Amino acid sequence: MATKRLRAYQDVLNREPKHIEYDGKLSELFGKNVFHAEVMREYLPSETYKSMMESINNGKRLDRKNADQVASSMKEWSISKGATHYTHWFQPLTGATAEKHDAFFKPIGPGKAIERFDGDMLVQQEPDASSFPNGGIRNTFEARGYTAWDPSSPAFVIGKTLCIPTIFISYTGESLDYKMPLLKALHAVDTAAVEVCQYFDKNVTKVNTTLGWEQEYFLIDQALFNARPDLIMTGRALFGHAPAKGQQLEDHYFGSIPERVTAYMREFEMESLLLGIPVTTRHNEVAPNQFECAPIFEECNLANDHNLLLMDLMEKIARKHDFRVLLHEKPFAGVNGSGKHNNWSLSTNTGVNLLAPGKNPKTNLQFLTFFVNTIKAIHDNADLLRACIASAGNDHRLGANEAPPAIISAFIGTQLSGLLDDIEKNVKAGKMTPQDKTELKLNIGKIPQILLDNTDRNRTSPFAFTGNKFEFRAVGSSANCGSAMIVLNTIMAKQLKEFKKLVDARIDKGEAKDEAILKELQGIIKHSKKIRFEGNGYGDEWVKEAEKRGLANLKDTPRALKVWHDKKVAKLFDEMGVLSPRELDARREIEFENYILKIQIESRLMGDITQNYLIPATVEYQNKLILNVQGLINILGEKDGKEASKAQMSLIQRISEHMNAMKSASDNMLVQRKLANKIEEAEEKAIAYCDHVKSTFEEIRYHADKLELLVDDELWPLPKFREMLFTR
Ligand code: ADP
Ligand code: MG
Repeated sequence: MATKRLRAYQDVLNREPKHIEYDGKLSELFGKNVFHAEVMREYLPSETYKSMMESINNGKRLDRKNADQVASSMKEWSISKGATHYTHWFQPLTGATAEKHDAFFKPIGPGKAIERFDGDMLVQQEPDASSFPNGGIRNTFEARGYTAWDPSSPAFVIGKTLCIPTIFISYTGESLDYKMPLLKALHAVDTAAVEVCQYFDKNVTKVNTTLGWEQEYFLIDQALFNARPDLIMTGRALFGHAPAKGQQLEDHYFGSIPERVTAYMREFEMESLLLGIPVTTRHNEVAPNQFECAPIFEECNLANDHNLLLMDLMEKIARKHDFRVLLHEKPFAGVNGSGKHNNWSLSTNTGVNLLAPGKNPKTNLQFLTFFVNTIKAIHDNADLLRACIASAGNDHRLGANEAPPAIISAFIGTQLSGLLDDIEKNVKAGKMTPQDKTELKLNIGKIPQILLDNTDRNRTSPFAFTGNKFEFRAVGSSANCGSAMIVLNTIMAKQLKEFKKLVDARIDKGEAKDEAILKELQGIIKHSKKIRFEGNGYGDEWVKEAEKRGLANLKDTPRALKVWHDKKVAKLFDEMGVLSPRELDARREIEFENYILKIQIESRLMGDITQNYLIPATVEYQNKLILNVQGLINILGEKDGKEASKAQMSLIQRISEHMNAMKSASDNMLVQRKLANKIEEAEEKAIAYCDHVKSTFEEIRYHADKLELLVDDELWPLPKFREMLFTR
């Protein structure tokens, strides 16, 4: 009888690609299942349409009458698309999305029913979501959390369900999700950026944050996935020896995409297009069976909803193609992990990208203002940026010579470094002469519109300027971008407000506007110099250099999350109107709790797999060897038999050594876990899990992976890396 593993492997070898039949143009699919502005114009009375646009663009509340009208039109439209149910779709702090479906259907008498959906049902729901994480804000016995409609992200139909993007709040009004603080952070940066834009252009009344994410993921065959309890339960392979061939040949990156994978990509891309997600890019990534998908950037709130939707679609559609998608940051030790680059910029209602160099000195000064202020925000809040990307999964990736280190720094390229150095040196204290000004203007005017070509890209920096946007590269592949975007936009809002205040003070004292701006920029450039790093972020020298500069290197999640205790952080989020101190406390508790749970589950699986999979298979093989040795001695006699079974004897011994070592490391893990479980306080417990439980994994795995190499291939129970990574 073959092992589960070998049966699964046989299934994989028999698979065929499942192409979807569709000959039409992709453009015809775009946004078809979305209740977007064009559809609204068609379905809504013109007055309601106007209020709806006001609500989308300027956050104005929709009155009761108009909300009823929108609900009714939404119902009519979605029923025409085949919907029978509706759901409030939200983003609890678990990191996934959640939904609770209700039917439009309502009985109104014996044998009679209507389809009902009104303003109340659209605007607010009470999903009785008592088991979502709440960090102590909501007592379970009063299990009331509300979802409330976010009109700025359009409703859509998936299958037979109308999905309405919503925020998720507690009975007492505190946020329990990513969307609500994100919307607030976007509002804060909008207000602050508009004020600064007024120095340059009075027509600017609105600044949108733009986000373009790039989603990396692994695909593995469903049969192999199902034969690995660790992948099923934790999303990563807790055991497994590196394959003889990994990514060292670099033959996967941008290579031709296997046909089964292409068929899968095509289907989820088509589904994405129907939902208005503008996916355009697909390619192989560095590691075998690793891929990437990226859409065109969009307004940040919408882009984030789209990322969450896409992750969901990817998972659902993968199953149809007998794949499983792994969004974990590090599913396979020894090959690259997955990230989700967040390309971020700010753009005005007048169509200007504030992080793109302009055509003339004036627009360039505006660019420099936003550019330099971003660097200051990063400099002043590096620990917060580190914290917002911290997770048990991302800990495996950061600093592992494949992803930026846990040290936050910013890369800006040689040209801009030169310019900033110039400003630092040449802006004179005191009043500037007309000559000074002309010279500087000339320099600033010289910033070319197209800054960088691809060769000047530093892929080792966690926060890199890429010509017309910053790319936050340290975000984990499974993360809700909301976490990073809340922090980035909040610190930017704070910085821009501060900048405005200082420049205004100079202007009040009689300095000319441009001069006041330049002088403030000069101060900022000096102040934030240590965060700029142009070299190799993967090198050991950087770790030393960063330490000299006084930059933090917070290697694990519990250490990174400490910053949430900082009073200054609470003040920042409170002042910017993004999170109240109570909300922040709750979030911190949830994050520590999430970390503990993740490591706890991994630890349990390590124990189970060792005990129930690896030891039985190993013993079975060892018994085979023992029988063989006994047989040889039987027929050859003691002396010759022993001589003839030298190889087997040495194998028997090596197997025993590794099995004993694996078992005792696993027993030690159990002791440590029990100790950690006794700790009440979340942070202390998270640290214990990190330092004493997780730290035992490596030793257990080391011996298990050695056994994988020793035990008969026919008997080994877990699909091997070469099978998971190289067959499709
Ligand atoms: P890579 O980092 O893989 O080389 P590119 O530089 O080609 O990728 O593109 C990166 C991403 O940046 C794309 O997803 C694109 O949509 C996004 N992007 C481009 N301009 C902006 C912008 N102004 N704001 C936000 N994202 C942007
Ligand atoms: Mg990128």
